[in-house]
Amino acid sequence: MSETAAQDVVARATEVARDVARSHAESVDRDARFPIEAVEAMRESGLLGAIVPREWGGSGARLPELAAAVRIMATECASSALVLAMHLIEAFNLVRHGDSDALRDITSRVGQGTMLLANANSEVGGGGDVSRSKSFLGGDSSPWTWEKECLAISYGVYADAILSMARRSETAPDTDMVYVLVEKADYDLQPTSEWDTLGLRGTCSRGYHVRAQVRDELIFPVPFSTVANDGAGQMRQLILSAVWVGLAEAALDRAHAFVRASARKAIGTVPPGALRVSELAGDVQACRSLLETAANRLDSLRDAGSLENGVMTIQLRNLKVTTSKLAAKVATGSLEVVGIMGMKRDGPFSVERIVRDAHGGLVMVSNDRFLHDNAQFLLVAKEI
Ligand SMILES: Cc1cc2nc3c(=O)[nH]c(=O)nc-3n(C[C@H](O)[C@H](O)[C@H](O)COP(=O)(O)OP(=O)(O)OC[C@H]3O[C@@H](n4cnc5c(N)ncnc54)[C@H](O)[C@@H]3O)c2cc1C
Repeated sequence: MSETAAQDVVARATEVARDVARSHAESVDRDARFPIEAVEAMRESGLLGAIVPREWGGSGARLPELAAAVRIMATECASSALVLAMHLIEAFNLVRHGDSDALRDITSRVGQGTMLLANANSEVGGGGDVSRSKSFLGGDSSPWTWEKECLAISYGVYADAILSMARRSETAPDTDMVYVLVEKADYDLQPTSEWDTLGLRGTCSRGYHVRAQVRDELIFPVPFSTVANDGAGQMRQLILSAVWVGLAEAALDRAHAFVRASARKAIGTVPPGALRVSELAGDVQACRSLLETAANRLDSLRDAGSLENGVMTIQLRNLKVTTSKLAAKVATGSLEVVGIMGMKRDGPFSVERIVRDAHGGLVMVSNDRFLHDNAQFLLVAKEI
């Protein structure tokens, strides 16, 4: 991808974020509604197809540009940014592992921006553990029947297709799984829970009982373990971290604007909050650098072939843990700088939505789960 085209992805994201996502963010949050306007604008601007290589109809964007696009979207509306991020994870999986005629046909449709992809991996009872599933492909032949009790499917009813893992058959061990894609016409979603949450309300991540028909040609040609270990996990940590970094930037922007306004009112003085802003600015700078470094490294590994790299896996889990914690810290710190004007839902210095959204990063997926996974790995790793 040429430099101009790369900048174009970031420019398109900036335009959608500032011209569309910004003005609807408040109602998306208040009404816990899908950010339809921003997602339509992403579709029209080609952002939904940006990750797909040019030969399959997309723009062939690189990971650093995509991470920047998601980060910028999150500065205006974290729910819109998460929709883009979660769609990009599935598009990435499709490009990387969807090597069959039928899946390549879907890849081209994603490249043209005509499809929004959702994910239904988390299962009731399993939380963030995606290494096993109770659900399985049933029946005697394709199309297979598939049912799953899903803990959360973000924007499930708005998606054009859902991707998820299932056991190969009823008798297969719970870790012997395939990755499947089901198109809207082939599934039915029965809601099993509401989505009335502290933050990230526009993702509409309700629980569903899924009933679907799975066609042989839409089963990935590699096992789910390959999809998960060679790309899906790495891309998830990277691109979701971009949301947490964007939220930290948005909070800091408001705190910064507040101390600048205070300084203008008392020329020659340094407002007390300025010291805290300068400290938070260091946190945001660290977050942004971590994100950029990880995006560039993952891109290089992607070019070189396999993404199954233990040290990189640890670093990406750390990226998620660090950026989500810092986002919550920067959001709360900015609230302390701004004070009561930050708690109000309106006004230029409000950070209340950012504080709530930033706390979502801590549980999506639980930081402790990642730290435990890393702790296990570190015992046998020779380097960190
Ligand atoms: C905004 C949002 C959108 C989401 N969208 C989707 C979606 O589109 N598709 C989807 O499939 N899922 C989605 N999820 C679910 C998400 O991916 C996780 O599966 C979910 O947040 C985990 O739920 P949990 O916290 O109940 O479970 P757990 O991960 O089980 O965590 C619960 C608690 O148990 C602890 N714990 C459990 N197991 C361990 C362990 N092994 N080591 C250490 N601690 C452990 C955790 O620290 C935590 O305190 C979404 C979640 C959020 C918040």
